Amino acid sequence: MRHTSLGRAAVLLAVLLAGPGRAAAGPPAVAADLPPLDAATSLLVVAPHPDDETLCCAGVMQRVVAAGGHVSVVWVTSGDASELDLLLLEHSLFMRAGAARDLATRRMREARAATALLGVPSAGQLFLGYPDRGVLQLLTAHRTEPYASPFSGAAAVPYAQALYPRHPYTGASLEQDFAAVLERVHPTLILAPTPLDSHPDHRAAGLLTATVAQHLNLLPAVRYWIVHGGEGWPGPRGLVPGLPLTPAPRLHGLVPAVFALTPAEEDRKQQAIEAYATQMRITAPFLLSFVRSSELFTTAAQP
Ligand SMILES: [Zn+2]
Repeated sequence: MRHTSLGRAAVLLAVLLAGPGRAAAGPPAVAADLPPLDAATSLLVVAPHPDDETLCCAGVMQRVVAAGGHVSVVWVTSGDASELDLLLLEHSLFMRAGAARDLATRRMREARAATALLGVPSAGQLFLGYPDRGVLQLLTAHRTEPYASPFSGAAAVPYAQALYPRHPYTGASLEQDFAAVLERVHPTLILAPTPLDSHPDHRAAGLLTATVAQHLNLLPAVRYWIVHGGEGWPGPRGLVPGLPLTPAPRLHGLVPAVFALTPAEEDRKQQAIEAYATQMRITAPFLLSFVRSSELFTTAAQP
């Protein structure tokens, strides 16, 4: 097995942060950099695509539900631009826009099933329906001029199951819809993608969160996670339950808080990931490498 010494250091850190009494009943203590998770917690997980919320945060979500708190997930896109998926779904490039929208519908269904397994009620499953691989363009060149997705062909939210169908694909509209979600959920903890992620939609969703949260005086509630953390991360690939997640190379030395999962929480996280049949088909080893004994969160958006 690779990176044994790093793995041991992370185990040690997790044990130190979890404190004494792991053998006793009850979940491990929450890392100091996260607020207490209790009945007063309103957690909002910001997911650029269906599956990100489970990869980053399935353990925290389960813990908040168990404590009697509220959990909501907002999906910025519905994942309608996965080219490999589209190729599998459609054997030709004809009807491509229709295929993209069908794929999004499937992925939203999977997202509902996965997060229901984690205890998120349907009222807390919030889809914005903005364009997959287009979020950064919305926040830059298309703040007011609508963006047309080359995948779905849409220039406005095309999904009836989204919170705000037909809202235009502009940065201004996205910010407005996102702010409406924050005002609806009143989050005490927001888990958002870090702007250090290598995927542009993830970076954009992190910037969107920081911008809108600052405007609403919610910036202290934001913690960041990473999914596309650098070449080969998380390693080793595949299902290795019980192994802690190591800090991603792209965090450039930022030291994340370690949230330790119980074995039961880790098992449930695996089940939720496996609910994403479309994604498991193309990238199972990557997805399953997030089934680890810890989840990592940074307070700072950058080093
Ligand atoms: Zn993603």
